[in-house]
Amino acid sequence: MIKKKISINNNKINFKKSKFVITKNTHFIFILLFLIPPIITMSLRCFSMTLNEPLYEGMLVKGKLNTDEKIWFNKRQIVPHSNGVFYFGIPQGHTDTLILQYEKHTPTEIIKTQKKFEVKQQRWKETKINGLQKNKVNISTKNQERIKKENILLNEKRTEYNKDFFPICFTRPIPSKKYRISGDFGARRILNGITGSGHSGTDYAAPTGTPIISPADGIIVVAHNDMFLSGKTILINHGYGIFSSYSHLSKISVQSGKHIKRGEKIGEVGSTGRSTGPHLHFTLTWFNIRVDPEQVFNNYPCIVSE
Ligand SMILES: [Zn+2]
Repeated sequence: MIKKKISINNNKINFKKSKFVITKNTHFIFILLFLIPPIITMSLRCFSMTLNEPLYEGMLVKGKLNTDEKIWFNKRQIVPHSNGVFYFGIPQGHTDTLILQYEKHTPTEIIKTQKKFEVKQQRWKETKINGLQKNKVNISTKNQERIKKENILLNEKRTEYNKDFFPICFTRPIPSKKYRISGDFGARRILNGITGSGHSGTDYAAPTGTPIISPADGIIVVAHNDMFLSGKTILINHGYGIFSSYSHLSKISVQSGKHIKRGEKIGEVGSTGRSTGPHLHFTLTWFNIRVDPEQVFNNYPCIVSE
């Protein structure tokens, strides 16, 4: 009797199981036939790009892209790292709508489109600087030629692509509490009473000899001992279009071509070139587009509590 009961129960169980399987398969087939194809088509046509919005002028934008997608800004392709993360810079003064050109490669077609973003305007400060050497404000023709050559050297280096490095985060070039910000990025400067252009970087005032460290891994592409305006000057290529420069140093500790790690010492604060006191004039660029260093350190820090 007992054996029979068990047998009946087993039959019941099997019957239930097989019924369940049939129901599940039916649903599965329904999903396959009616839902998945449209979802696949939609996802193939959708761009997965994400950006750290809101966007504003003078900003280094960080975003993420799928491997089958490509984007361009101002006809320059924005190349992402193998993890999909990319950067691009919005120039100071770019307050119009920003247009990114898109391309997506699906198995059957290449979809081309564009996407528009609003760019917020910044309120730039005005800085008055007096006491600069007259020959460094009213610059002679000979010295203007020298500045031009020095700028060409730096700007040409800033067009080079390097994919050996990728800055996932940025550390300030002078460790915290050892500096005072004496000049904001973008501030319109009045030099000895003459209105100059917007400040191309951030000034960190610190005593002569204060160590300067690299904010990210990279390669030294310029180590110049005497530039007319920026004195002892360093330019680092951090990869994927990101460059940092260091002006007015009292000492340079690295040579051109040297690979550098984030946090490694590259030189010391000074007052060489056009300067009224010891400070580091620091710039960050995406190729030749200057961005606000403080925005970058605040938005993409290596140590959250920095
Ligand atoms: Zn400066």
